[in-house]
Amino acid sequence: MREFMKFEIRDPEWATNIQNELEEYMGGLYDSVEADFDSPEADPFTESGIPFCGCNVCEGREILSFLSPRIIKGYLNKQIGFYDSDESEVVEYLEAEIVED
Ligand SMILES: [Zn+2]
Repeated sequence: MREFMKFEIRDPEWATNIQNELEEYMGGLYDSVEADFDSPEADPFTESGIPFCGCNVCEGREILSFLSPRIIKGYLNKQIGFYDSDESEVVEYLEAEIVED
């Protein structure tokens, strides 16, 4: 019986790389906010295609735009996936059934 589904990272190196790339990407966007108005850094490429102003809406949009295609690709490559689990039982976590295999 399926209690609920959780995801798990099956390729920690892939996950670490994405995390580092996201930090680098967002760092570049925040640097662009501080950059001189007429410098090349002031108008950076954004994953969403929408200019980045540094507000919470822009931050959320760019994080989602950056991660969504990479996570979907990672899912298709089985670097991340779902498992069935009963949260009340740690043992069930360890014996959880991988859903898509
Ligand atoms: Zn904004």
